Amino acid sequence: MRTSEIAKRYLNYFEQHDHLVVPSASLISPNPTTLFTIAGMVPFIPYLLGEQTPPRSRMASNQKCVRTLDIDEVGKTTRHGTFFQMLGNFSFGDYFKEEAIHYAWQLLTTAQEQGGYGFDPEKLWITTFTDDEEARSIWRNEGIDPEHIQIMGMEDNFWTTGGPGPGGPCSEIYVDRGPEFGKEGGPIADENRYIEIWDLVFENYEVDNVQSKTDLHIVGELEHKNIDTGAGLERLAYLLQGKNNIYEIDEVFPVIEAAQRLSGRMYGDDEAMDVKFRVVADHVRSALMIMSDGVRPSNTGRGYVLRRLLRRTVKAMRELGVQEAVMPTLLPVSKAAMEASYPELNETFHEVSESAYGEEDAFLRTLSAGTEILDVAVNKAKQGNGTVSGADAFKLHDTYGFPIELTLEMAADQGVKVDEAKFRELMAEQKSRARQDALKKRHNVDLSVYDDFKKTLEAPIDFLGYTQMSSRAR
Ligand code: ATP
Repeated sequence: MRTSEIAKRYLNYFEQHDHLVVPSASLISPNPTTLFTIAGMVPFIPYLLGEQTPPRSRMASNQKCVRTLDIDEVGKTTRHGTFFQMLGNFSFGDYFKEEAIHYAWQLLTTAQEQGGYGFDPEKLWITTFTDDEEARSIWRNEGIDPEHIQIMGMEDNFWTTGGPGPGGPCSEIYVDRGPEFGKEGGPIADENRYIEIWDLVFENYEVDNVQSKTDLHIVGELEHKNIDTGAGLERLAYLLQGKNNIYEIDEVFPVIEAAQRLSGRMYGDDEAMDVKFRVVADHVRSALMIMSDGVRPSNTGRGYVLRRLLRRTVKAMRELGVQEAVMPTLLPVSKAAMEASYPELNETFHEVSESAYGEEDAFLRTLSAGTEILDVAVNKAKQGNGTVSGADAFKLHDTYGFPIELTLEMAADQGVKVDEAKFRELMAEQKSRARQDALKKRHNVDLSVYDDFKKTLEAPIDFLGYTQMSSRAR
């Protein structure tokens, strides 16, 4: 089943159960405290908090998400992407626990020929919150093997906003991939064999003292109880497509195939190289989706996250043996794999690709200037105390434009550390020197060169239409 079909089935199912299906919101988070939309519920927060009235009390969506928190997991686990899609059904003071559990169970276990996903009930496992006997009883009534229901504490199975407000227990659904993927004993025993696919949050409490989840204080019951669920589309896809991980699904794998052609290496030959292939496939797709929502590479905020994704792609491709520009090959392949679900990618692709290719060219120039110097510094570190000196890291940054993150990553790849504290000290010294220079210059500068220019600004300007302008001073 193609990924787009899995999403369609989810949204159809909930539409048939009276949910209003809405398109994904932008990846640029409406919430000022996070850079990107990190979960399906983010666009619905005003409804969940009761600050706004939703257009319908039942809604569903397939939300584009970016989580950079998971970046170091990418390629190493089977289930973490920096970009992924979260399917979700929501109830704002409408149905609650019983229906939410029933809907999830029915959609997962209904045969594929009848519109469901056809998971074998014997392979499904559930976790529930310690005090939530009600949820366990509902799950048992649905017909799940009682041995497959596990109990977890506050840390794992209780949701809050991170501040005082709504909160509540959750119940997570896992799929058992089988004994060849790890030890038995349910998700508590092994999170790689048992893959979390769907999280159901039952928001029924008002909570405070959320500094520490273990010391959380339940103030009372909410007047309007909400349901907020999130199912990972890529995780459903890899399990339903019989693949080994989310990077091998139809929306991602074509980039791995293109990277194989560019590098002449085969995916599957060597685990260390496979991680790099997966990083490339993940990051190219994330960069495409982030740029299509309007972000461009820069040195701050979202632009910096994007810059890192593009640079990490280039770096991983170099480790696969490719020195030349790769984005002109990989980006169109990723777009072709995603456009069935996101036809709007075509509208901005020209501009997006120009910017991505320009960024790659600039980075390749930086790399060719700095790599040799870094190699010398790394060799020196290997023969010495195993640490690249702060002075070398500073020189790489200052003279060759090598960002410290890159020095750190490339040094770590070769098993050496970097004296980051000294680097920061040298950076701070340089900044303070620059500040003093600027002050000195401001006091000595000859401002008369600006006088003529100032006069032209003060002269009246006649408006002659949109194509001509006349200034009397000219
Ligand atoms: P995990 O513990 O496996 O990292 P999570 O508890 O952080 O997952 P939730 O925040 O509950 O996940 O998100 C809801 C669903 O979204 C998960 O059940 C999973 O299917 C999916 N999901 C979460 N993070 C990712 C990711 N980085 N890549 C792909 N899918 C994800």
